[in-house]
Amino acid sequence: MSGNGPVDGDEKSLDDLRRLISRFNLDILDLLNRRAGIAGQVRDFKERNAMDMFNPSREEEMLDSLVAANQGPFPDAVVRHLFKEIFRASLGLMESNREQDLVVARAPGAADMVVRVGDRVVGRDPILIAGPCSVEDADQMDRVAGTLSRLGVGFLRGGAFKPRTSPYSFQGLGEEGVRLLEETGRRHGLSTVSEVMDTRTVALMASHVDVLQVGSRNMANYELLKEVAGTGKPVLLKRGFAATLDEFLQAAEYLAAAGNENVILCERGIRSFGRDTRFTLDISAVPLLRGKSRLPVIVDVSHAAGRRDVIPALARSALAAGAHGVMVEVHPNPPLARSDSQQQLDLVQFETLLESLKPFLSP
Ligand code: PEP
Ligand code: MN
Repeated sequence: MSGNGPVDGDEKSLDDLRRLISRFNLDILDLLNRRAGIAGQVRDFKERNAMDMFNPSREEEMLDSLVAANQGPFPDAVVRHLFKEIFRASLGLMESNREQDLVVARAPGAADMVVRVGDRVVGRDPILIAGPCSVEDADQMDRVAGTLSRLGVGFLRGGAFKPRTSPYSFQGLGEEGVRLLEETGRRHGLSTVSEVMDTRTVALMASHVDVLQVGSRNMANYELLKEVAGTGKPVLLKRGFAATLDEFLQAAEYLAAAGNENVILCERGIRSFGRDTRFTLDISAVPLLRGKSRLPVIVDVSHAAGRRDVIPALARSALAAGAHGVMVEVHPNPPLARSDSQQQLDLVQFETLLESLKPFLSP
């Protein structure tokens, strides 16, 4: 047999058969999309009633009745496979629609959000957050804060509860450190930033610190996020060093969903095979996060680098990429620092850094 013409008798030509197949394709497509429309209504119902989107027993029931109705020629296993794909696509649609609805996501054309810390605004002109890795003593804090306020830097950081890799390393001064940070910040007119590591210390931190930092190791500590959100305080949320941007935004969503949209996102380097720096600064995260979300985005250059020599270059890159600010560790005497001594700038190095950032900082 050759050609596409009629064969004999009632038999249809290949062109006719193809036309039929194409029509069935369109019918199936129409049915699939109508089915997806109904699935959307199911999603809305389930969302209103806080029900799980995925219901395995309902899927099993539908598959069983499809197989019972199957008259071939497709074998039952193929029918199961085909419909499972349809169910999967449907579920994907239900869940992806939810993701587009994230409170922290940027709807097309939506303006940037800003976070207010007292009179200061994060999310417009670039800001700097500087200070030691750990709060150590009054003199250390006073010398750093004096330099910051003289140079017009608004935010003083300092860890009092420290997430150290080794349990034998300095763990921070705890409550005494928080009080020292608060007192120093107040005396020098600076807003304070410090990490909260544990749900048990959230209330303490919230009563002494202006911005609560959630560290990289705790980005996915959802109970901590909910507790921190409940304080209503501005939150500086660091990206987990092995977290994708979507996981990072979902963590931010925990704060927003609990009623606190005062969230500053902080890229701080991710794990890579590189050993020359402590982590690898993911500079593309800055424009990507700004595109995906309306929240302010800053970059912690110190923890990304783990060494002080590349910090000025990283800080300039961050601001050039559109970051709303930079966090940098500064210590009056880095070799004597009780944590992260390799990456902290001394006060003169910090002043030089600031000079080099001027073209990026002035509006
Ligand atoms: C910090 O900023 O003190 C800190 C520990 O950072 P990270 O959580 O990014 O490691
Ligand atoms: Mn540090």
